[in-house]
Amino acid sequence: MSGLLPVFDALTTMLARAPAPPSVEVRPLLAARGAVLARDVVAAIAVPPEDNSAMDGYALRAAEAGLLLPVSQRIAAGGTAAPLAPGTAARIFTGATVPPGADAVAIQENCREVDGCLQVLEPVTPGDNIRVRGQDIADASRVFPAGRRLRAPDLGLLASLGLGEVPVYRPLRVALLSTGSELVEPGSGFLGPGQIYNSNRVTLSAQLQALGLEVVDCGIVADSAEATAAALESAASSADCILSSGGVSVGEEDHVRGQVERLGSLTLWRLAIKPGKPLAFGEVRGVPFIGLPGNPTSSYVTFCLLARPFLLRAQGAVDVEPIRLPARANFSRPRPGNRQEYLRVTLTVGADGLLATPFANQSSGVLSSVCNSNALAVVPVGATVSNGDWLDVLLLETLE
Ligand code: AMP
Ligand code: MG
Repeated sequence: MSGLLPVFDALTTMLARAPAPPSVEVRPLLAARGAVLARDVVAAIAVPPEDNSAMDGYALRAAEAGLLLPVSQRIAAGGTAAPLAPGTAARIFTGATVPPGADAVAIQENCREVDGCLQVLEPVTPGDNIRVRGQDIADASRVFPAGRRLRAPDLGLLASLGLGEVPVYRPLRVALLSTGSELVEPGSGFLGPGQIYNSNRVTLSAQLQALGLEVVDCGIVADSAEATAAALESAASSADCILSSGGVSVGEEDHVRGQVERLGSLTLWRLAIKPGKPLAFGEVRGVPFIGLPGNPTSSYVTFCLLARPFLLRAQGAVDVEPIRLPARANFSRPRPGNRQEYLRVTLTVGADGLLATPFANQSSGVLSSVCNSNALAVVPVGATVSNGDWLDVLLLETLE
């Protein structure tokens, strides 16, 4: 039809060409958030390591709950528990070890203690209020597989196993090129005629950093074949992947694609995506290359949808694609398009699910369409949309 590559096909091709993960390094837990685990983690202990009480109360034998039970010991969290003598109960507190012999904990609200003897006021069943050994993590079980991106609670789980450090892949080094002779770095002075500030460098660097990647900033590259070739060569010699913005369209001032083909090869170019059609992917001197379009919204969206999963896979991550949620369109789109469209929308909670309302100006040059939205709504190729139709949406927070 249009000769444009479907987004799904492009992503599949790119992921299949992601390089093997970088080398492994061992990091303290607190330096490993967002990093990708390089080895399976197998539990060397059970968590919890012993049966312990889930409540403040009395440990006893459930079968003896109807008797008057002398309180034979007191066990607090961190203390030791002696075997429970038959016909007695132990005063016990949350987190304390359940004494051998006891099979339940009666909560203190259901108990009365008179003259050192316990009377239980409600029936007790074996197992009540006991957190059994290994209920969180069984001994010798696989806790996480290699390839997992570590989240804060993952680090906590590793800590609960007694681990102080963890093997992860070292951060991928990503060379970032901002192409465009019109670009001026923010903070470096006023704009001359025809100039604009380089916003993509900041957005993309922040996106890369948020993924835990290392940014090799290659600065602004002028729109000439020579400058583009030199920048690509130097990027290829200093990084694991190359990411550029701008210069991948069909204009005479767009030199990136041509130089990639000269110094390496182009695998794909021009996607059925809106915004972001001119995205390019290939390699330069064997180093993977992703050329994002220059328009700030296009570069942001294509980073989220294509560069992000590719870079995460190259970083060693298995799960790289964001979750899609259903939302109802709070708009209509009577004419079908020939590109998959990613509308910048605000999601609100409606009567029967999420409601997606697009930002008024969807131009690819309007970065505030992203800043004033919280999701992307996906309108497939050839689809029309009526008010109330269900669409897939992607939360921006899960894309960064
Ligand atoms: P290009 O893809 O190079 O044709 O650029 C498309 C549009 O995006 C042009 O209006 C450029 O001026 C603009 N643009 C390109 N690179 C950047 C950048 N780094 N920051 C802000 N705008 C940019
Ligand atoms: Mg340009």
